[in-house]
Amino acid sequence: ETTQLKDIVAHAKEYGFVFQSSEIYDGLAAVYDYGPNGVELKNNLKRLWWETMTQLHHDVVGIDAAIFMAPQTWEASGHVAGFNDPLIDNLDSKKRYRADVLVEEKIVALQKEIEGLKFKQSIPNSIPDGTWNSYEDRISEAENMIGLLTTALQIGTPHSLSNAIKQANISEPGTGSTNWTEARQFNLMYSTQGSAIDADAPPVYLRPETAQGIFVNFLNVQKSARMKIPFGIAQIGKAFRNEIVARQFIFRMREFEQMEMQFFVRPGTEGEWYDTWKAARRRFHEALGLPADKLRFHDHDKLAHYAKAAVDIEYEFPFGFKEIEGIHSRSDFDLAQHQHLSRKKQQYFDNDVDPATGKPYGNYVPYVVETSVGADRLFLATLCQAFAEETITEGEGEAQQTKTRTVLRLHPALAPVKAAIFPLVRKDGLPEKAQAIFDDLRFDFRLVLEERDAIGKRYTRQDLIGTPFCIAVDHQTLEDDTVTVRDRDSREQVRMPIAELRRYISEAVSF
Ligand code: ATP
Repeated sequence: ETTQLKDIVAHAKEYGFVFQSSEIYDGLAAVYDYGPNGVELKNNLKRLWWETMTQLHHDVVGIDAAIFMAPQTWEASGHVAGFNDPLIDNLDSKKRYRADVLVEEKIVALQKEIEGLKFKQSIPNSIPDGTWNSYEDRISEAENMIGLLTTALQIGTPHSLSNAIKQANISEPGTGSTNWTEARQFNLMYSTQGSAIDADAPPVYLRPETAQGIFVNFLNVQKSARMKIPFGIAQIGKAFRNEIVARQFIFRMREFEQMEMQFFVRPGTEGEWYDTWKAARRRFHEALGLPADKLRFHDHDKLAHYAKAAVDIEYEFPFGFKEIEGIHSRSDFDLAQHQHLSRKKQQYFDNDVDPATGKPYGNYVPYVVETSVGADRLFLATLCQAFAEETITEGEGEAQQTKTRTVLRLHPALAPVKAAIFPLVRKDGLPEKAQAIFDDLRFDFRLVLEERDAIGKRYTRQDLIGTPFCIAVDHQTLEDDTVTVRDRDSREQVRMPIAELRRYISEAVSF
């Protein structure tokens, strides 16, 4: 039986991984909170990404830029229409008319769909097909979409129309393509008051991607860290998008976290770097435990005019192969845009000698290869991959029984708890012994110490949250300073000296 997303959602809630935001008020759509185990798993993912980027690669350094940025940033990036924004499609009048018609037709189609859904909903015991949890979900999604399309028609600018067409996934007749806009993918940005005193001050946006904080700091970082091209800048941070189609749990959220790295290269070398990063990023996902046959590359069929190449790394979720990371070869587009709007040179002087001319390469605006992965999406992928319901046999002879167990087979480096320490009974000095082991190891690992309940029950609880090791302290421990260590996946137990534990666990939880 295949795992359904709903099983994972229920598990995530019950065992403290992910809760719906503001649940007591019936939740806020497409916003989620991480619980005590979830925050550990997510921090582990972010730490591994961070260390892989800034420690393993000597030529990548990090930054932590603010969420708020100067409003011009979003004109340069193509997220909002500026006065003379070269990015906005100049839809000619014919194309413009077609866009209007397509949007109107879509509104009618959605209205019909809602009627149909409401009818089906009135039939007892009928369940919606597709990936919706309920008719209400799909109906509210369709209603949101109608709202968006109606607003776009009212605004009526090429930008609003092309954005609406993209969001609603309307394809151009005959081509099957949705390539109406050439800007960076436009998603509705949230904005807030820019000044508490001046009502006319321009609004500030909540960034829809972390990348721009890197681009605008390109020279600050290059100079202060004395970086030579090629080099990269990595960042982890929150991003916000007013997503219309908000479902599939933490796959598509309105507030989420990105882990992005922009790699600056000499023009002409971007192809090699693109291939290098493509391979490196896939290896990272495999190292986290996502199996090769559940990962694939998906090349973008349509590229923005400035882009040299773009590929998604997709993982096979219970609801199909879906993007977890994007790798894009973006030419000098972003830095050139910022140079244009800020009127500040975004150039690098390359004193390496060009063999073709015998002279230094000199000044240029670097090209960029970017890797961009969602921390939450990667969290969901690792959770889906780890979640297993298996039939096991326990006990011997007469007492033998089969049962199902649910276990999270997380990579030990990701596990929220690395080891659980259990005194077999709550007497005879076993709790004190267990406490002493805990006190010694807690400087190195996140542990739990549990005395309550039968040992089998305690093992089960740790399986449910993916703890790789359970250490049992029994009467023999008092005699010879050995403990049993139970392995989460094989359920086998080995006896080893307490003095060995640190090395044993360290090896297993390293990445
Ligand atoms: P999608 O096509 O799924 O909307 P995208 O192409 O807009 O994604 P990018 O702008 O390339 O995504 O962002 C890079 C990464 O950020 C994605 O691969 C994904 O992991 C993550 N991401 C983007 N939007 C969301 C979201 N709404 N919720 C969670 N993660 C997201």
